[in-house]
Amino acid sequence: MNLHEYQGKEILASFGVRIQRGIVAHNAKEAVDAAKQLTQETGTGWHVIKAQVHAGGRGKGGGVKLAKNLKEVEELAGSIIGMNLVTPQTSAEGKKVHQVLIAEDVYYPGDSETSEFYMSVLLNRATGRNMIMYSTEGGMDIEEVAEKTPHLIFTEEIDPAVGLMPFQARKIAFNLGLSGTAFKEMTKFVSALYKAYVESDSSMFEINPVLKTSDDKIMAVDAKVTIDDNALYRRKTYAEMRDLREENPIEVEAKAVGLNYVDLDGNVGCMVNGAGLAMATMDLIKMAGGEPANFLDVGGTADAKRVEEAFRIILKDPNVKAILINIFGGIVRCDRVAQGVVDAYKNMGDAIQVPIIVRLQGTNAEIAKEIIDNSGLAVHSAVQFKEAADKVEELLAN
Ligand code: GDP
Ligand code: MN
Repeated sequence: MNLHEYQGKEILASFGVRIQRGIVAHNAKEAVDAAKQLTQETGTGWHVIKAQVHAGGRGKGGGVKLAKNLKEVEELAGSIIGMNLVTPQTSAEGKKVHQVLIAEDVYYPGDSETSEFYMSVLLNRATGRNMIMYSTEGGMDIEEVAEKTPHLIFTEEIDPAVGLMPFQARKIAFNLGLSGTAFKEMTKFVSALYKAYVESDSSMFEINPVLKTSDDKIMAVDAKVTIDDNALYRRKTYAEMRDLREENPIEVEAKAVGLNYVDLDGNVGCMVNGAGLAMATMDLIKMAGGEPANFLDVGGTADAKRVEEAFRIILKDPNVKAILINIFGGIVRCDRVAQGVVDAYKNMGDAIQVPIIVRLQGTNAEIAKEIIDNSGLAVHSAVQFKEAADKVEELLAN
């Protein structure tokens, strides 16, 4: 589960990580109040107005602006809230901004002594260990740094048995070229950050930039935090931070009815039982020259109700031009699934306007094929896996 910057910073701060202070606002008036409060608390005169959407590159898209007085806070917040923010990481339509973070300006004016670093914490799947990835090249696109100057990206792997060792935090501060107070501050920052990562059950932290201020403080200016979905049951306060407006609406709906659905870019809708078979089905569609529109695992109980729910979810994607149903009847009997497909199709009436190809294999597969073929509906049955995919392509070509 992804979080907004302000929520990520809240979590970081709760573990003692120093952050750029800020208050979230939903309209221009709240923004001005927030700015006043920040001035009282931190003494800052200037404020940064930051769009809160689940996408990076907000600065480049005009979603991060510096305000030098309250009038500018009001104007900038007013124009950013409600806008469709397009960044290098959003689609062309962009993302609607519902709220902004009013943050203290930490790049004190006329100041040349600040430095921006990059730091992330994530799992290295190859070694099965957490690692801290960091670079002197902060504030920039890390993918670009990786491509052009890969030697400026460092990694530090953490042994799960002992956790982050003090010498590792010092090594990071050293590699970032720090000394004196900033060096000490960085070791504290890194230790607190790693503790926050582990104890919040996160699967990714990306802090870009980590800032060294002119008075040698080290703080998180940005925070991209992803909490492991599988841990949400024991992290209720984080689970409540979920912002469904930021997520794919079809995926949200699928989750609500208990379907494992991932939206993709292609035009062949897939309804499959079992994640492995679903993956194999997507591969097969690609091999036959098509593109899957989704990943969908309907699970073990493919009865009429479930098939109908799955149909409805798949058809919400306007790109779907055909649906391939691929069910292996191991525990579930194919004839029951076939009946489910026929019943769902009849129930849905005109809602289904695309060809449907059904491939049922396993227990009672032959009876299932008869049920489909005798239903009088525009459902095509196939027995072989490859035959099914070829049929999809054939129908799409017509
Ligand atoms: P992103 O573009 O979505 O990654 O958003 P960031 O939170 O990283 O902000 C983008 C950029 O805004 C940063 O790289 C900074 O250069 C700038 N920025 C952020 N906070 C401040 C601030 O307090 N003062 C000034 N002058 N610039 C800031
Ligand atoms: Mn950033």
